Amino acid sequence: MTSLKSDSGSTLKDTSVYDVIVVGAGFGGMYMLHELRKIGLNVLVLEEATGVGGTWYWNRYPGARCDVESMEYSYSFSDELQQEWNWSYRFSTQPEILEYANHVADRFDLRKHIKFKTRVNSVSYESGEKKWLLRSTSGEEFQGRYCVMATGTLSSVNEPKFSGLDEYKGDWYITGRWPHDGVDFSGKTVGIIGTGSSAVQAIPVIAKQAKHLTVFQRTANYSIPAKNRPLSSFEIKDIKSRYSDIRREAKANRAGIASMEPGLNSALSVSEAERYEEYQRRWEEGGTGFTAAYSDIGTDDDANFTAAEFVRDKIRETVIKTETAELLAPTNTIGCKRLCADTDYYETYNRNNVTLLDVNTDPIKGLVEEGVQTENNVFKFDIVIFAIGFDAMTGALLSMNITGKEGIQLRDIWSDGPQSYLGLSMAGFPNMFTITGPGSPSVLSNMMTSIEQHVEWIRDCLHYMEMGGYTEIEAKALAEESWTGHVEEIAGNTLRYTCNSWYVGANIPGKKRIFMPYAGGIPSYREKCDQIAASDYEGFDIS
Ligand code: FAD
Ligand code: NAP
Repeated sequence: MTSLKSDSGSTLKDTSVYDVIVVGAGFGGMYMLHELRKIGLNVLVLEEATGVGGTWYWNRYPGARCDVESMEYSYSFSDELQQEWNWSYRFSTQPEILEYANHVADRFDLRKHIKFKTRVNSVSYESGEKKWLLRSTSGEEFQGRYCVMATGTLSSVNEPKFSGLDEYKGDWYITGRWPHDGVDFSGKTVGIIGTGSSAVQAIPVIAKQAKHLTVFQRTANYSIPAKNRPLSSFEIKDIKSRYSDIRREAKANRAGIASMEPGLNSALSVSEAERYEEYQRRWEEGGTGFTAAYSDIGTDDDANFTAAEFVRDKIRETVIKTETAELLAPTNTIGCKRLCADTDYYETYNRNNVTLLDVNTDPIKGLVEEGVQTENNVFKFDIVIFAIGFDAMTGALLSMNITGKEGIQLRDIWSDGPQSYLGLSMAGFPNMFTITGPGSPSVLSNMMTSIEQHVEWIRDCLHYMEMGGYTEIEAKALAEESWTGHVEEIAGNTLRYTCNSWYVGANIPGKKRIFMPYAGGIPSYREKCDQIAASDYEGFDIS
């Protein structure tokens, strides 16, 4: 890496013009770096954190783990890597996933191309020179002919905006920015706001340690038991012997998960007894594959109701206090918000040291010196946890102040919701690519499958550019408009469209409601991307 030279005294300028600057060193950025080096490009990765791993670097809250099985939530690009690495659990813990990310960085010698502790906050295109200029919060400057945003879809945390945060005398933490040395809950009274996937994982673990845990729920979420367990050496050996088939099946699966087992029939085409048996089988198997039991759970209200009611009954069977069980039983369609997978989530509400509160009947007014003030009460806490999610899909990109051709701002272009060609590229922003951007299957899939597909597509595109002696590629506005319309149309046919989820940006006040990921599934998306590449990048202007 070229050293930074002091420019006018205040700016530190890296004088090299890199072929590609990648922002982000999570699984997306790491693999992008690896593949671009393979085709001989000079790459610099800029990363805000002090280490690799992205999601798994930041989300160190108790209980954090993946909910796509580890044998599949891992890179497939290197057979040596997948054969040598051993996962401990069906769904491995955050520390183990982070260890894996570090192993990958070392094994493929990636670190020397990554500049850590560098948060990018300005990105602008110099049309004359056809290069991107990136600036960091500490005033450093970097230049690249291409720019790849591997900044993550769930990386920009939803900052707590509750009044009185400064007055609160206790400690408070955000799940997505958890302290590296952990938090000791022993003997502490703890409040947690939010009941999404992060909270569902954290609550059972914190409840075991804390003196008392109070959960503030706004919307009840569906959660399926993860049925997590250590992986036996026999299982690992068996999967490894079939890895290439498993990875091929993952690519052919809508969600990018070979073990997903999609049901082909309508939930309404079978008898009640048969349906119950299938739901029960999947419940016992555990994990988010539950809603794949029938083909129409995601599209038909009546079919959806059968699956939702099954889970509601399970909650009522599990939670002893009727009032708590009813509060925990979700009323919206199942799978509309991201389905959770848990270990003892509902059981935890049977503990004497756990209280569930409904913020709809007693809204949170803000924080006060002692804890959380609701309309009717003041709850005293030693620790408050915000498990309130992320400004998903667009937050990280928009926070970088990206300026494209002729001074256009991504923030302005996206003021009515994100527009992107394939979730890979935006009109007006030449030579820039996004990994798992809005308009791609991304968060509706095993992200590893989607990341690998995007990285390989971008690698091939840049190889094509270099081989052809081309210097600029830009999505055509019409192609982008047509794809964005298609994404919206596909989503409109699903029940996912119908509730206030982060998929539609409803968790962030003022964010335009638009369904951001592509809901058409990985195989059709991949086919479209491949066809575009094969037709000399149809829908792009190349010069
Ligand atoms: P990230 O891992 O988010 O990495 C982005 C990186 O970019 C970060 O390191 C960040 O610091 C950096 N960055 C962002 N902006 C800037 C900037 N301006 N300047 C410099 N650096 C910047 N997906 C699944 O498929 N299965 C799962 O089981 C699963 N579990 C999850 C659990 C949690 C708690 C969360 C939050 C997400 C989970 N996801 C899961 C989604 C997960 O985000 C992806 O699987 C994957 O890790 C994303 O990798 P990425 O490299 O695209 O983004
Ligand atoms: P989330 O799903 O957005 O959940 C945030 C929670 O906070 C919701 O219950 C939300 O309620 C609540 N909330 C937000 N603002 C609030 C407010 N002002 N007052 C009261 N409650 C408020 O976020 P997340 O749990 O961090 O998960 C985000 C995504 O990350 C997941 O969907 C998943 O894709 C991924 N993830 C995966 C795993 C895993 O199991 N592998 C674990 C964690 C995260 P509403 O529902 O009413 O908005």
